[in-house]
Amino acid sequence: MKITLSSFNRGCSLFSLFLASLLWAQIATAVDCQAYRERFQCAEGERYPLHLSFDDGPALQTVDVLDVLKRENIKATFFVIAEKIECDRIQKEQCNTNEPAENCQAYQECLTRRKILARTRDEGHTIGSHAYQHLHYAQQPVEFVRQHFQYSRELLEPFLNTEPPLFRLPYGDGWFNRKDKPAVMQALKDLGFIHINWPLSAFDWNPDNQQGDKILANVMEQMCSRHQGGVVAFHDGVDTEMHQGRLFTTTHLGEWIAPLRCVADFKPLSFFEKTHVMRDMRAYQTE
Ligand SMILES: [Zn+2]
Repeated sequence: MKITLSSFNRGCSLFSLFLASLLWAQIATAVDCQAYRERFQCAEGERYPLHLSFDDGPALQTVDVLDVLKRENIKATFFVIAEKIECDRIQKEQCNTNEPAENCQAYQECLTRRKILARTRDEGHTIGSHAYQHLHYAQQPVEFVRQHFQYSRELLEPFLNTEPPLFRLPYGDGWFNRKDKPAVMQALKDLGFIHINWPLSAFDWNPDNQQGDKILANVMEQMCSRHQGGVVAFHDGVDTEMHQGRLFTTTHLGEWIAPLRCVADFKPLSFFEKTHVMRDMRAYQTE
């Protein structure tokens, strides 16, 4: 086909239309920080240091969180439940011993979770213990509590990458009520753990919040009303099911980062917790 001047012009104008629509799409998706500031009554020009932390993983969906953090160049902390990567036990308890391990889904998913945790570590995120199981430890006998904390440390040893290692109590049970139940914090101290609290909460564990931008709103509201940032707790897994992620956070986190940047300046955990140093993990790189 011969290209005439008119078809060339038509091609050019179609191309400019395409460029214009691209530009429009960019403008349309750009975050209106002023609108967010007004909505949450944020002080003009103020941005607060914020550190993202994720509890209850590792889950298969943790990879979605890792992809967002990599794209956005943010370093986060993951408090993981040790039994979720105890693959030998999962194989013993959940697999048919007459079948090869490759055929056992629970075991294969556990191996995948271990790989995801290794990726989390290798991409420079901080990893801490969220205990061996997701229990109310302040309601358990002291010896049982110590065994579980110690066991979590052994299982997570290749992944805990700070010195001293970090810990976050499930439900905060033993932290919020540490005056009445001092044995839990004492056990952590004796085992060399440091407890990391969460002054800000996304409340993403509550199904009522798992819609629209309620979870984002929770975090922005807390920061702007207090004029303060800090460590915020999200969830990338669920405690009750061994492999299912909290899909709302893992699928929508990517949309929340840009609005958060209107009022937050993402910082590593060391900005808030100066007591620990990242451990040299080169010995474990092959995990
Ligand atoms: Zn938890």
